[in-house]
Amino acid sequence: MIPGPYDWIDEELTRLDQKTLRRRAREVVPISGGQCEIDGKRLWNFSGNDYLGLASHPTVIAAARSALESGVGARASALVSGRTNWHAALERKLAAFKKTEAAILFPTGFAANFGTIASCVGSADVVFCDRLNHASLIDGARHSKAKLRIYPHRDFDFLHDELKKSASYRRKMIVTDSYFSMDGDVAPLKELGELAESFNAMLLVDEAHATGVFGPTGGGLLEEAQHNPDRVICVGTLSKALGSQGGFVVGSKSLCDWLWNSARTGMFSTGLSIPNCAGAFAAIDVIVSEPERREWLLRTSTHVREQLRNMNWDVPKDVVGPIIPVMIGSADQTLKLSRSLQDEGILVAGIRPPTVPRQSARLRISISFDHGEEGIEALLAAFQRVRETQKAI
Ligand SMILES: *Cc1c(COP(=O)(O)O)cnc(C)c1O
Repeated sequence: MIPGPYDWIDEELTRLDQKTLRRRAREVVPISGGQCEIDGKRLWNFSGNDYLGLASHPTVIAAARSALESGVGARASALVSGRTNWHAALERKLAAFKKTEAAILFPTGFAANFGTIASCVGSADVVFCDRLNHASLIDGARHSKAKLRIYPHRDFDFLHDELKKSASYRRKMIVTDSYFSMDGDVAPLKELGELAESFNAMLLVDEAHATGVFGPTGGGLLEEAQHNPDRVICVGTLSKALGSQGGFVVGSKSLCDWLWNSARTGMFSTGLSIPNCAGAFAAIDVIVSEPERREWLLRTSTHVREQLRNMNWDVPKDVVGPIIPVMIGSADQTLKLSRSLQDEGILVAGIRPPTVPRQSARLRISISFDHGEEGIEALLAAFQRVRETQKAI
């Protein structure tokens, strides 16, 4: 055979296969009530991010449907003419929800992180990133050309020493997830806030998984930590607890003005679709008016963690909230367990490298209000049965 310029693709895919690291695209049919269908089989979906069940909440659907009268697409980037009345209303809503001066929308949370970091720092600057930060934060920091310093997970003492050595940089930025998406633990926001203040550093906090879930009114972990919201660059997404799609930054008016003028992922990408904006707007109202959703979620998550530990599954001690990692170790074993659970009617993501560090593959359960007591019972029964089968082998 004559070698071709694309031969390397199949070679690379084979290499992934050999390491059991190849991912395959599945077709998932969503069914409301916390379920989905794959290959004709109905499953409880414990691998989504729709924590409050708002993606299919009647009020949210009705809002998105009626907004469709204004059209589907935004028709342009926000900068040109794509910031419609729907976008402006959602920005005001987000600022009020997060108690900041202003907000700015982005096409996705990934784009918000990527564009914001690159807008705020450059080659004369330094960015400090938690080792387990989301890929969009790490990639944004790399793309910015700032010096990238990775600190051990949640280790603010280490960060303190690094900050002491960083006086020669023009600007400094500390970047962290607030609720870590693969680990279910939280950043030490109070300490990071104090470090940022004392070293005159910016603090960017990604509340993707925390918005709607934590905080007295669902405003996230920054709300819980009572940070001065205009002293922080807070990033979020509409695509998790808000059940829609899109990203945003909330903070001071001058920050949002600067991002409007400089963040290329916002400037050169089409605005959010109109039903997305309307759906997210309605979702915020539901979050504020139905606190019982997040109360149920947090209470139930605690119960699930306790039950799993009683069955001798390895749930790390610092885990809180609806993301529950069950540590397995090998990628191979994780995949097998995930398949056994699927046979039991439970869809739980097996998370493997490079999403997580090597030898830390895990099952990642995410709880949603939509599961109800019935879904939770099914989940726990399946983990129990898989545990017993394992012992029998
Ligand atoms: C999901 C996620 C994002 C990206 O948000 P999208 O809107 O899905 O692009 C960013 N940061 C974290 C921590 C996330 O979990």
